[in-house]
Amino acid sequence: MINQSAKTFLQRQLALTQLNLRGFAVAANQSKQIHLLLFGAPGVGKGTYSKLIEKDFDMPTFSMGEYFRGLINNPSADQADPFLNQVRGILRSGKLVNDQTVIDVVKNIKLSKKFDQHQGMQFDGVPRTLNQAKMMSEFLKIDLVINFFNRDDILLEKLMSRRVCPSCSKNYNVANINRDGYHMKPLLPKKDVCKCDVCNVNLVIRDDDKESIIKDRMDVYRNQTQPILDFYKSISQETKVIDFEAKKGIDDYPEIKQILKDTLKI
Ligand SMILES: [Zn+2]
Repeated sequence: MINQSAKTFLQRQLALTQLNLRGFAVAANQSKQIHLLLFGAPGVGKGTYSKLIEKDFDMPTFSMGEYFRGLINNPSADQADPFLNQVRGILRSGKLVNDQTVIDVVKNIKLSKKFDQHQGMQFDGVPRTLNQAKMMSEFLKIDLVINFFNRDDILLEKLMSRRVCPSCSKNYNVANINRDGYHMKPLLPKKDVCKCDVCNVNLVIRDDDKESIIKDRMDVYRNQTQPILDFYKSISQETKVIDFEAKKGIDDYPEIKQILKDTLKI
């Protein structure tokens, strides 16, 4: 005797296996969706570009972090789904979600066809390891990777110039960078340069925006990301990788937009 949830679980496993067996070539034929990955160290402006691309190219973002948070914050959603309950259990236990589970989540999303009505989609927070990138490439083709970067001294200055409101968490930035082709305007409060426009309280520097911590974060980011970028560069017949030095913040966007149009023929 097999109960309903076990049956659903088996059906899901079968579907996942079939997706595996078919390989990415067939999966790619089924869906002509464009898959885009944006990389960039914290502070480089990736989030801003991502939002503009979402809007201009109809490419919403699947964020692994948001997805996981959603599973934890909505304990009643998808209760009948044994796989999601299993993931929820891992997250609640505080354990690290292993690569296979992360990849199964991505397969689930593709199978759900949730993003199929859009021209394409962006992935955020996945792949996070070289292993995940390799596993993903077996069933899903990444068309384009844009790797946003800043020179180290610029990134450091930008991050150290961040100011945050301790009350509402609104972000400001006091850096005014104008050298070597970099043009970055400060983002200051309008009324008093030291105080939040909304709350009128003094702005502070976050603990993790101090120099030594920023440098550590930059190292961690690089060690994690470089192997993934190298992997995509090694499969250049499938995935195009573009390194983009983001020198002007939001004013770089028209150029980025053009790169997408030219590379993806859209
Ligand atoms: Zn505030």
